Amino acid sequence: MAKGLDLNTVGELLDHVPRRLVQRGELTSFADLELEAHATLVAEVVSVNTRRMRNRRGSITEVVITDRSDHPGSDLLGRRENRMTLSFFNAWTAARELTAGTHALFSGKVTHYRGSLTMTNPHYAPLDVDDDVDTREAMQNATRPIAVYPATAKVTSDRIATAVHTVLGVIDWRTVPDPLPAEIADRHGYTDLPTAYEHLHRPPDESAWYRAKARFRHTEALVLQTALVRRRRAVELRPAPALPGKPDGVAARFEAALPFRLTDSQVAVGEELAADLAREHPMNRLLQGDVGAGKTVVALRAMLQAVDSGAQAALLAPTEVLAAQHFASIESALGPLAHAGTLGGDPDGTTVVLLTGSMPQSARKRTLLQIASGEAGIVIGTHALLSDTVQFADLGLVVVDEQHRFGVEQRDRLREAGLTVPHLLVMTATPIPRTVAMTVFGDLDVSVLQGLPGGRQPISTHVVGLLEHPTWEDRIFARAREEVEAGRQVYFVAPKIGDDDAVPPMGLADSARALAEIPEATDPVTGAQDSAEQAPGPEEAMVSTAWLAELVEQSPQLGGIPSAVLHGRLDPTDKAEVMAAFADGRTGVLVCTTVVEVGVDVPNATFMVVFDADRFGISQLHQLRGRIGRGSHASTCLLVTRREQGHPSRERLDAVAATTDGFELAQADLNLRREGDILGDAQSGGRSTLRLLRALDDVAVIEEARTEATEILEADPDLENHPGLAAAIAASLDEDTEKYLERG
Ligand code: ADP
Ligand code: MG
Repeated sequence: MAKGLDLNTVGELLDHVPRRLVQRGELTSFADLELEAHATLVAEVVSVNTRRMRNRRGSITEVVITDRSDHPGSDLLGRRENRMTLSFFNAWTAARELTAGTHALFSGKVTHYRGSLTMTNPHYAPLDVDDDVDTREAMQNATRPIAVYPATAKVTSDRIATAVHTVLGVIDWRTVPDPLPAEIADRHGYTDLPTAYEHLHRPPDESAWYRAKARFRHTEALVLQTALVRRRRAVELRPAPALPGKPDGVAARFEAALPFRLTDSQVAVGEELAADLAREHPMNRLLQGDVGAGKTVVALRAMLQAVDSGAQAALLAPTEVLAAQHFASIESALGPLAHAGTLGGDPDGTTVVLLTGSMPQSARKRTLLQIASGEAGIVIGTHALLSDTVQFADLGLVVVDEQHRFGVEQRDRLREAGLTVPHLLVMTATPIPRTVAMTVFGDLDVSVLQGLPGGRQPISTHVVGLLEHPTWEDRIFARAREEVEAGRQVYFVAPKIGDDDAVPPMGLADSARALAEIPEATDPVTGAQDSAEQAPGPEEAMVSTAWLAELVEQSPQLGGIPSAVLHGRLDPTDKAEVMAAFADGRTGVLVCTTVVEVGVDVPNATFMVVFDADRFGISQLHQLRGRIGRGSHASTCLLVTRREQGHPSRERLDAVAATTDGFELAQADLNLRREGDILGDAQSGGRSTLRLLRALDDVAVIEEARTEATEILEADPDLENHPGLAAAIAASLDEDTEKYLERG
């Protein structure tokens, strides 16, 4: 059990929750089986036949079983059968025990042989009770549902059941603390802990099983929320310098000069941040706002408040491109206020500096000095800012932009390094459902920036299927030309970089037909989420920036239009150069990878074509699309695919084309993805993670547990009167979980 299922202790065995219950007499429908998967099923034996094998020594026993379905649905081989033939080799006991009419649990790998489903040498356990039983216990057993456990070929469901039953019979429950406080158990009408375990594994009926699971789910939620609330209280109690700002400081002058009116939501969130910063305890806030919602200006106002209070503020971006962008736009937004101490600068302003890993040594040295001396009020950079060589004079506020792209380790390091990070603001455009936020970011306050600033032009999005419409390839290029001729700019996005030598000598539409022949390699829905560079399917067949650049160059429509290529493997100085040329409007077409995915802000860009868009996940496409529609001109996004209509990955494209509302898309995304992807690996795997609780579904329980946890800690901050709960938190806070909580 330790090897196969990582069950090492009695406690872990007891927490191994049955996957489902099977009623006695109820048979498992064969239509639900998956090929090549390990299955546990209950079936009735129809006939048994043993014969000698012709070509080998020994015998074969063929056991025909049925699920007794009257109107059998077609199984995965497309057959309409309610029978399956199992093969046992040299299995004399099986031949004896499995007689016609017997109900038995079979477990093994489902394969196919000569067009029918089969299992070879499956493990089995007859379910029928002997006829001559008369004890009460046996009577009960006869009606009890059967628990089916997550199992492996070696550790079968019924072996687990046997072990659990053995253990349940010998536990001294007085030695097992109950994490769920008695008053909460009473209030919700839950049974005591021993009964709950009994019902989890050997329920008298289905409803008892559900009640038991509800109790354990609630316990899980409470343990997690108590840990998070306690942690948050601890952070809140830490001292931090108050950064109240001042009425006539840089912040006030910046606001007076803003070229637009802040939205109501920007004002409201700004007030929350201002109040947080003014307190003598650290701010710990997550700012969530859709792509283009205007988070930067909100963060900038907070940073200026820090500066006005005599402290420094750091803005961390996930990429150098984005850091450079932030630097350029903040510098221009502040104007003379960004250049105190230089000629033409405002002496009452501050100094904004950019520090990246790729700066020339001399410039870097100068910048480090400005940071160490306190001359630099606002420091912008990537994670390089967290390196040991960077010493701040007085760092008061750290803003982490687009945190979902910002490596977990970096954020961990940020907190570990202590860096005396008194006030922390984390910004993300990825909409996070409330309860996920509560579990994953449960120790942060959450602010939401609603809506988008007014005056935005809509983005219309279309899915372009090159397989159905090969001639549209030309039209895409023609459309790009029109856009550039009208003075606008264009993004061409490819899912990978590629080598110049590997560029296929054909257009996209031609290749679409070739591509249709190649089978998909991995799960198209879950596989493409993280990085386009690791997208599934035949890698070499993907559109690359190299290929696109070639197509642009060869294209009769786009000839003569200045274009450039931007991707992560470019030299940092080249990258900066390319980005600057595009921002200035010197480049008409930017052929790029997802390096432009986050934050990049060129309002004059109005046309985006994402090639092989099916290689990207929903949120990635939403982020990409957020690069256009930023100025006063209407924008268009084309999601080009060479997949056939009805291909599962085209569902994502349709979802993205259907709405520009990030929250709606997040929901669509959730529906198409497994929860593990959202919570990350730390959540879906490993022992210390969520077992029964589902952050997306168990909203009510999580909210309830949050309230209860707060109440408990208010009355009993050190959990002295809740030893069971304290022990459960300690146990679940092993190294992994500790890390996971840090990530908040
Ligand atoms: P995001 O939230 O995606 O980081 P940004 O902060 O980059 O969005 O803002 C997107 C664009 O909207 C920027 O060009 C910014 O100057 C502009 N903007 C921000 N707030 C407003 C506002 N209140 N009115 C008009 N434009 C705004
Ligand atoms: Mg941004």
